[in-house]
Amino acid sequence: MKTFELMMQSNHEQVVFGYDRDTGLKAIIAIHNTILGPALGGTRMWMYETEEDALNDVLRLARGMTYKAAVAGLNLGGGKAVIIGDPKKDKSEVLFRAYGRLVEGLGGRYITAEDVGTDVRDMEWVRTETSFVTGISEALGGSGDPSPVTARGVFYGIRACTQHQFGTTSMKDMRVAVQGLGHVGTYLCEFLHEQGAQLYVTDIDADRVKNVVERFNATAVAPDEIYDVDAEIFAPCALGAIINDETLDRFKFKIIAGAANNQLRDEKVHGQHLKEKGILYAPDYVINSGGLINVANEIEGYNRTRALKQAEEIYGIVKNVLDVAKSEDIPTNIASNRIAERRVEQVARLRRRFITDRPIHFYKGPRRLT
Ligand code: NAD
Repeated sequence: MKTFELMMQSNHEQVVFGYDRDTGLKAIIAIHNTILGPALGGTRMWMYETEEDALNDVLRLARGMTYKAAVAGLNLGGGKAVIIGDPKKDKSEVLFRAYGRLVEGLGGRYITAEDVGTDVRDMEWVRTETSFVTGISEALGGSGDPSPVTARGVFYGIRACTQHQFGTTSMKDMRVAVQGLGHVGTYLCEFLHEQGAQLYVTDIDADRVKNVVERFNATAVAPDEIYDVDAEIFAPCALGAIINDETLDRFKFKIIAGAANNQLRDEKVHGQHLKEKGILYAPDYVINSGGLINVANEIEGYNRTRALKQAEEIYGIVKNVLDVAKSEDIPTNIASNRIAERRVEQVARLRRRFITDRPIHFYKGPRRLT
């Protein structure tokens, strides 16, 4: 494995490998960029087939966090961690304590949170060894479930898209196809229904479909038929890679805006296809940044009202992306990447000019939760 070569490809600052003999911990923390602030990103626990897979994943995810935080206007950098192991079998208090010590050793350059395969309980174990952790339960002064905040951000992002595409933020009689009725999808349906939207919904879990149909007067659609719905808006809130060669020709939508991560199977190809078809795409990592805004809020002392208000600012953030895409005649996913890169570069340039000899000190470290 050529770790430095991989780091050089995307300009990662630091990669830390952590091993603990007693607990069997094998973790990798990747810090992509700390120009804007400490690197914040979740800890993924996964049975990677090879160490190389784990390294590739953590590097890719850490880089993504730099872009996400930068576009969302947060003073945070990008980082991510992976623990190699089976989340169903290998979890224990001591494992996450050992991991917490590894995080603590970075002195605040990396702040962790939950991710695929880890949950609030794990982060509370981590917290016994380090204060550089977010995503703690509300009972312990943390932010709890991020989904309502994510959904609120997605809802405001959708409104920015309708304003751009149809000249209105009103959802009255707007037809919206929602894929995935889990944590985020269900809250999103609630907001859309309250504002008069007509919902077409799907999930592989029949109970979830039944619940949403009954509560929000939605029309149920079979999982594979969601791509054919005649609706103005498609809100993917389940899976990645659902915008691909097979689905694209089926879309009658004018807007795609939802919470799911990695919606484009191929960033370059499918972003461009959407542009050519005149479908307005809200880049996933921009419109779903409510979750990150939520945990970032925890650093300063969590306040749900403030987090929800900040998530509403995703309206302006998405609008900016759509405006840049239009004025530079580029796909929206390329526009959001450019906005992120420009912000990081501008701040880096400023820091080189004014404080070349000192590290940045505006960030005092997360509040110790009691
Ligand atoms: P969730 O697991 O609660 O819900 C996902 C839902 O999708 C489930 O109900 C599942 O049954 C359904 N689903 C799975 N495969 C499906 C298929 N083929 N067709 C239709 N439905 C299917 O997850 P969530 O927390 O609601 O997150 C949804 C998406 O948003 C994920 O991609 C997640 O990574 C992303 N996201 C979530 C947050 C958050 O705050 N929860 C933040 C940012 C991004």
